[in-house]
Amino acid sequence: MLAYRPLASTTPIKALSRCHSTATRFVNKDLYWRRVPQWQNVSIEEFIDYRWQLANTVAGITKLSKFLHIVLPEILAPSTNPLLQHIKTKDDFIQDALEGIAAAPMAIRLTPHILSVIDWGKALDDPVCRQFLPLKSSIVPDSPKLTLDSLHEEADSPVPGLVHRYIDKGLFLALSICPVYCRFCTRSYAVGGNTETVSKSPQKPSRKRWEVVFQHIEKTPVLEDIVISGGDTYYLQPEHITEIGERLLSIPHVRRFRFASRGLAVVPSRTLDENDQWTSALINLSNKGRREGKQVCLHTHFNHPNEITWMTREAAKVLFENGVIARNQSVLLKGVNDNVETMGTLIRELAAMNVQPYYVYQCDMVQGIEDLRTPLSTILDLEQRLRGTIAGFMMPSFVVDLPGGGGKRLAVSRDTYDPQTGVSTFRAPGLHGSKGEKVYEYHDPVPRPATGHPFMKFHLPLGANSAVDQFRPLVDQAYG
Ligand code: SF4
Repeated sequence: MLAYRPLASTTPIKALSRCHSTATRFVNKDLYWRRVPQWQNVSIEEFIDYRWQLANTVAGITKLSKFLHIVLPEILAPSTNPLLQHIKTKDDFIQDALEGIAAAPMAIRLTPHILSVIDWGKALDDPVCRQFLPLKSSIVPDSPKLTLDSLHEEADSPVPGLVHRYIDKGLFLALSICPVYCRFCTRSYAVGGNTETVSKSPQKPSRKRWEVVFQHIEKTPVLEDIVISGGDTYYLQPEHITEIGERLLSIPHVRRFRFASRGLAVVPSRTLDENDQWTSALINLSNKGRREGKQVCLHTHFNHPNEITWMTREAAKVLFENGVIARNQSVLLKGVNDNVETMGTLIRELAAMNVQPYYVYQCDMVQGIEDLRTPLSTILDLEQRLRGTIAGFMMPSFVVDLPGGGGKRLAVSRDTYDPQTGVSTFRAPGLHGSKGEKVYEYHDPVPRPATGHPFMKFHLPLGANSAVDQFRPLVDQAYG
């Protein structure tokens, strides 16, 4: 076990102390990053070093092109997606990716861990690659209902950087940068650098800006629950984690808070780096919170089992052994995790490493990612098939974050759903004011199957293929 020593809040955070050297602890492990030609000689110690991870992160199109030229084979495995079958060579792929990036709302940033778990020979269909690299040929026209800020977060912010939607919960947006940029980010309107299609206002970590948020929380006693997000809190300095956490712990009415970070999924090695103190800062806060009767947790974000390696399990073990509650929030994405086998495996893998599968989100109605969205029927089908396959407390809630700021609702709680029009309706009576009375609409991606087609049914008999598998030929046909 990696022991940790509690520290007073004013004491500088120290690294987790280790009983053995890195080499001794991790013998006979798969050095999976060595499958990337550039990193053939990178040692386990180098890979674990967070400074190495930062130095070798691929950000921007120049670095990406260089990386792709080295990592891709000359000839790629053919795609199963008819839209991508004309892409056969390395040069085809790079050209298509560069054109896709030019039209995308999110910038490019990928960590060495993520770059190492992609199967580059099959990059056209790789479920991890698909989350980060837009290919121009796979992009399909947006439904007219899509917007950049589909959850109306800016409209629900009483002060800049704090979204107050649910009665007792606040979402503190502490920064706008992340270790990776996901194509489908719900905060495409703000997160990451400018792209050719979206101008953003960068939110750097700023004590002055945070102070306005803290003061608002202090004078709003109804706020018991705070999410610290961004961006990704992995890009906050350990001192920032401590400072934010200590300030929130000092507010009597704040009962619980969580740091939102995709870090465990995209840079798990950081938790094993004894020279880096981000995890120590979190552990210290978690323990201090527990002593005060308050929950301090980590909410992370895995979407596919391929993101999980032995290093991820080791990192999750450090958190579990040190008492940090970690929960996962996945996004349901077409061609990534929209089938029972993949989602079931992901849930079981998360449970096995004591990261609670908490939410599976219907992909938000965000512009520029129509090719990643699934119809509501998919999430309903997945929930129906997966419930009962694992203990109830490890079964995630399958939810829709309602466009227009209605908050998260169970997908099965829809009032109406017509798969022919692709429109589902929900209400959110738990919200205050007019929000609690509104009817919210979620719109399936277009195109939809023709009226009266037998695949309209979303409650499929057990034993049939998942709904999405049955929809796919129709969608492919429509686009083909
Ligand atoms: S890590 Fe989270 S906040 Fe950052 S781009 Fe991905 S989804 Fe958005």
